[in-house]
Amino acid sequence: MQHVTLSNGVQMPILGFGVYQIPPEDTERAVTEALAAGYRLLDTAAAYGNEKAVGRAVKNSGIPREELFLTTKLWVQDAPAQHNTLRAFEVSLGNLGVDYLDLYLMHQPYGDVYGQWRAMEGLNREGRVKAIGVANFSTDRLVDLIVNNEIAPAVNQIETHPFFQRTADQELMRERGVQIQSWGGFAEGKNDLFTNHLLAEIGAEYGKSVAQVVLRWLTQRGVVAIPKSVRAERMAENIDIFDFELTDDQMAAIATLDTGSTLFFDHRDPAMVDWLAGRRVDG
Ligand code: NAP
Repeated sequence: MQHVTLSNGVQMPILGFGVYQIPPEDTERAVTEALAAGYRLLDTAAAYGNEKAVGRAVKNSGIPREELFLTTKLWVQDAPAQHNTLRAFEVSLGNLGVDYLDLYLMHQPYGDVYGQWRAMEGLNREGRVKAIGVANFSTDRLVDLIVNNEIAPAVNQIETHPFFQRTADQELMRERGVQIQSWGGFAEGKNDLFTNHLLAEIGAEYGKSVAQVVLRWLTQRGVVAIPKSVRAERMAENIDIFDFELTDDQMAAIATLDTGSTLFFDHRDPAMVDWLAGRRVDG
């Protein structure tokens, strides 16, 4: 497995396993199979409702804690954010059954962002979280957070896939020392991604699937990817991307698929802000 080095020196696998939308009752099996397939980075969130099942799979795997890279996410909390962030952190840690996290992400750029961030900075300083970061931050919000706080986010996890490539955002983040991580790397199959002609043609040259081309393209750009699958054969397929390399011409051809806009929703849409702020996550 290749790794990237975060701004604070922490090593992060460039490919991991995401568990969004895996029902809690299926998550322990899926994570057990993902660990057996070789994944060591696991990406969950308090809002996914499956942290406990991730924790059981981790415990039963017997894999030493230091060989794993565990990420979970803080949901938008009520004020006072300081108190609620620490409470939410303890709940997530308890759910996962571990005594530190490798990466704790602020899940949404809403609510008392500064209160949440300062509490997360405290957890980072105490060593209870090796790195802290954010998700779904536009670059202006990201820079605002960086310039007005002591610790800069080590990671920004954002929608990134062949139809929304985030190249300029990645460049800005690189300049600021923030690692880009892709969510929805397959666009959850939207736009017929898995049967895309260009991606299939490129894959055929190497005996690789569209999924493998997409993950190779992301990681070759230096983007950390966390594909989700509930199927063991796809988990194995998705991690088998380190034995081929896309050419500059192929990277340039894939760049033409970019539409420059989201296939999911715009985090700046007021209706979305309302909807996400109305969601409550309890343990
Ligand atoms: P995704 O990884 O883009 O796509 C998952 C879909 O692709 C599933 O339907 C899966 O089906 C299918 N799939 C997986 N491997 C495949 C393969 N080799 N061939 C064909 N189909 C394949 O979607 P995502 O789960 O939304 O994103 C990945 C992770 O990012 C999440 O799990 C989560 O950890 C994170 N995320 C974060 C945020 C955020 O706000 N921070 C938002 C969304 C996601 P099967 O399961 O049936 O195989």
